[in-house]
Amino acid sequence: MRESKWMQFPREVLIGNDVLKETPAVLQKLKLTGKTFIVTGKNTAGVAGNDVAALLEKEKNECYIYKSEKATLEEVEKIEAAAKEFKPKCFLGVGSGRSIDLAKLASKRCDIPFISVPTAASHDGIASSRASIHSDEKSESYAAQAPISVIADTGIISQAPFRLLAAGCGDVISNCTAVLDWELASRHQNEPFSESAALMSKMSAEMIMGSADLIRPGLDSSARMVVKALVLSGIAMSIAGSSRPASGSEHMFSHALDRIAKKPALHGEQCAIGAIMMMYLHGGDWEKIRSALIQIGVPTSASEMGIADEEIIDALLLAHTIRPERYTILGTGLTPSAAEKVAAVTKVIQ
Ligand SMILES: [Zn+2]
Repeated sequence: MRESKWMQFPREVLIGNDVLKETPAVLQKLKLTGKTFIVTGKNTAGVAGNDVAALLEKEKNECYIYKSEKATLEEVEKIEAAAKEFKPKCFLGVGSGRSIDLAKLASKRCDIPFISVPTAASHDGIASSRASIHSDEKSESYAAQAPISVIADTGIISQAPFRLLAAGCGDVISNCTAVLDWELASRHQNEPFSESAALMSKMSAEMIMGSADLIRPGLDSSARMVVKALVLSGIAMSIAGSSRPASGSEHMFSHALDRIAKKPALHGEQCAIGAIMMMYLHGGDWEKIRSALIQIGVPTSASEMGIADEEIIDALLLAHTIRPERYTILGTGLTPSAAEKVAAVTKVIQ
């Protein structure tokens, strides 16, 4: 008999200009009014965190604002302890990444719902159930919970630095190689595979690649498109019950770079470069990925990312050890000459 599955999806998803002001109404609809625990960052508090608290307080909600600068387990524990005192009905993660990851994991530990309020669209964690938490030099993905609601104000998101939105596109486009790795694992190792999750993940990548010329700085329509693709990607992960549809060898390469590089670039930028190289290894159309990234304005070379060529090679050689249980095109690892070749042919290094 096949295993039963428990899939968790967001229930109220709001995407559009000025939807932040609907936050009190969303809480009311979900019967979560009363006390709200807001996790935000020092900058994002000024962008949206304080505003959302004011909106809620106007509707007689009591808010606890926790400002955090790093997504570490210690922070999760501090938030959990503060929340246990405050006894909120729900958590709000208001920020670009860290705040959402912290709220996601802390809310899961407190066993109360969480609402994702992204201020930028730089990665697909805004709607997924996974939280990426950092320790000394590595970042680890934890099973948390999917947001009960996503409130994505494209008025705010379109005004965030364009580099963040471009990185979000990179993260979505990298689904192309994640799905190929998953298919490979399903064929070679009989790993459970979900056709619907894979299709949805691929579709979100194709949506962005097909509209690459429409993604421009400062446009509400561009922010809307990227947020939708990121939400779809998050839902694909919820269907799969793992990050498989959106994280393969290209993500392992990015995590390896996080460990190696003196100054790592953005997650989505690193995954995008990883996707170009992994698509080459898969024998697929890596040039299609590269030209879409160029059109959007996502870096496609080490120098554009501010990373040394040697760091790219070292990350390629380390990548297969990052998550050894996750079978990918990297197999048991590349040889140094193969690593150099893939990086050079795809023009990632000079
Ligand atoms: Zn990612």
